[in-house]
Amino acid sequence: MKKLITLSLTALLVAAWTVSAFATEVVVYSARKEHQIKPLFEAYTAKTGVEVKYITGKAGALLERIKAEGKRTPADLFITVDAGNLWHAANEGVLQSVDSNILTDNIPAHLRDPQNRWVGLSVRARTIVYNTDKVNPADLSTYEALGDAEWKNRLLLRTSKKVYNQSLVASLIAEKGEAETGKIVKSWVANLSVHPFSSDTKALEAVAAGVGDVTMVNTYYFGRLLKKNTDLPLAIFWPNQKTFGVHMNVSGAGVTTHAKNKAEAVKLLEWLSSAAAQGKFASLNMEYPANESGKDDPIVAAWGEFKGNPMNVAKYGEYQARAIKLMDRAGYK
Ligand code: FE
Repeated sequence: MKKLITLSLTALLVAAWTVSAFATEVVVYSARKEHQIKPLFEAYTAKTGVEVKYITGKAGALLERIKAEGKRTPADLFITVDAGNLWHAANEGVLQSVDSNILTDNIPAHLRDPQNRWVGLSVRARTIVYNTDKVNPADLSTYEALGDAEWKNRLLLRTSKKVYNQSLVASLIAEKGEAETGKIVKSWVANLSVHPFSSDTKALEAVAAGVGDVTMVNTYYFGRLLKKNTDLPLAIFWPNQKTFGVHMNVSGAGVTTHAKNKAEAVKLLEWLSSAAAQGKFASLNMEYPANESGKDDPIVAAWGEFKGNPMNVAKYGEYQARAIKLMDRAGYK
């Protein structure tokens, strides 16, 4: 009897050892919120048996953590929002170049790092939203024109401290040069009806309440607000359709420089970029799939077709420091 128990204990131990020796995992640090990634990771684990461990937090804090952990970091994959943040992470040396035909086939070149240290996984448009009771959309045209005299005391903006606006202004610098962009940003500031807001949602709510008539936000904030209250007098306008197109940005990911499970991290990233995963990845936050074969969310598709700016989103990082200084000089708080 005793021998039997010993034997089965041994069998158990061997079984446990086998499981741990063959179990694979990937560790993800994500600035994208838990409810926007968890369903995907669960689907991936169900499909592959690979466990995805993750923590979520603010983009800047997670980047600092990866830097502080150095070679000991448990993070294999870093997910964050805004190309400016991805560029910054790569520039700080925490992401490594990944050579993958699957990634380059799935994600268009302008939505990934030219050195393949990160790829965009979802696309968001930063566009104009107006109060439908107070604005005739025929009077809207471009980002630049929101600085015209007719918008005096009618424009609302989110703070310039947010990376989304730094990326928007960076893209304008890349398009129009620094002197011209300086004039545009100054003209926006001159048209503000109140001090800039801390969030896109607050700016939208203020437009709906008539504090101002028009603002610039990421479309998913518009989608979220309208989901809660379908009666708000708000609508999307796609600017710059005759020039460079709507400002496009991404959320995305890169494999960390000191990844312990690099091969698994690459496989997870490749799967996240696949047509099968992309529809879900985008629709969890009412965004557009980065992979053009990914399915559009029906709510998002209803906002209509538009021309997006085909500029490489890495440019927003390259011009970020100049954008911040320019907004400061223009008095954009
Ligand atoms: Fe956001």
